[in-house]
Amino acid sequence: MTKIPMTTPLVEMDGDEMTRILWQMIKDELILPFVDLKTEYYDLGLLHRNETQDQVTVDAANATKKYGVAVKCATITPNKQRMEEYPQLTQMWKSPNGTIRSLLDGTVFRAPILISTIKPVVKNWTKPITIARHAYGDVYKSIDFQTDEPGECTMTFKGVSGKETTLSVQKVDGAAVWQGAHNKESSIRSFAHACFQYATSTKQSLWFSTKDTIAKVYDGYFKQIFEEVFEDYKAEFDKLGIEYFYTLIDDAVARVIRSEGGYIWACKNYDGDVMSDMVSTAFGSLAMMTSVLCTPDGNFEYEAAHGTVTRHYYQYLDGKETSTNPIATIFAWSGALSKRGEKDGNDALVKFGQALEKASLDVLESGVMTKDLVGLVAEGVEAKSVSSKDFIAAIRQRLGALINR
Ligand code: NAP
Ligand code: MG
Repeated sequence: MTKIPMTTPLVEMDGDEMTRILWQMIKDELILPFVDLKTEYYDLGLLHRNETQDQVTVDAANATKKYGVAVKCATITPNKQRMEEYPQLTQMWKSPNGTIRSLLDGTVFRAPILISTIKPVVKNWTKPITIARHAYGDVYKSIDFQTDEPGECTMTFKGVSGKETTLSVQKVDGAAVWQGAHNKESSIRSFAHACFQYATSTKQSLWFSTKDTIAKVYDGYFKQIFEEVFEDYKAEFDKLGIEYFYTLIDDAVARVIRSEGGYIWACKNYDGDVMSDMVSTAFGSLAMMTSVLCTPDGNFEYEAAHGTVTRHYYQYLDGKETSTNPIATIFAWSGALSKRGEKDGNDALVKFGQALEKASLDVLESGVMTKDLVGLVAEGVEAKSVSSKDFIAAIRQRLGALINR
């Protein structure tokens, strides 16, 4: 069989622990036999980040800007415990995802992978709901403090021009707590562009919700910027038959629960933090959740939403076979390959990405799955738990059959 050629390399970011093991298995079994794979490889494994003083993460982000499509393995974000586990670390390196996101000015879109035998807790959700969370500012970059006597709190903005604006926050007759939050026009605008870009790229409608009836100026600013940015995309939305829909956050919550899914829900930072955990839990499993970083200028980085699955890695190091779910990582590869194909006009590569997803779903639908999913399948469905190795082998067999048909 001749392998599918590639013209532009994918940016490949390797990672840590169990997902690094799955990464190699996926490449060896599901990609390399079928695709003449071209990647620009960056090792974001913790020890290599440490050796390069984290330069490798910056280089990988810059390569994503250059080529436009990346695929990333889960990586360790070191904490105190990790500093003890890896004594050679010279610093508590920052989260690679955070570094990449801020260098690319991107927004993360999280979408569940659905199969018919695992029913979402919300029965009518038959299509995925993708959450886009704004990742800058508001309460996450706010200051807060407490006072314990009567008095008044004011807020002052000092412009570089020398102009000052002071407002009274509140006069209080006793102890109180205070909070000062902000967001930036540039960040909100980038968020809006990333959302409209991703909506057109995936041909899904975009919902956006805030509380602008209460936070009239603050949330109203978000609403206004989204409306302005939408003007750039309106024609494309009309052509694709998708819509931009703004509503209040409480109305959105009610509509989301009653909906069948199949759209992107853009949320402010705090709303997105809370709603993404609710939506992913209701859909079933973090191991079935993909994550795409999309930039305002249309670059994409694909990954799994879960971490490096440390507990399974230590079992693996003990020589035990694990049943770790590779689906989200496979879909990171399939998404990246399809997007690369789309950007390069390489139809064979787009079709390969789709076939890889279909093969994975077919195997799951046949009842062959990893251990984490067996407990989630609907009553009456026969499910068999297999090791990651056997699961990937089953997908390879199915993929071969689909491709040679
Ligand atoms: P985790 O790796 O997502 O795993 C937590 C637990 O969820 C696992 O122990 C496992 O449960 C289950 N799980 C997650 N993914 C699974 C899969 N593919 N197949 C089967 N079960 C799966 O989260 P963590 O243990 O909190 O974090 C581990 C490391 O990952 C940390 O160092 C963290 O910094 C990093 N992390 C990286 C990213 C990223 O790169 N995007 C995201 C999150 C966390 P059982 O043990 O019950 O089987
Ligand atoms: Mg959270």
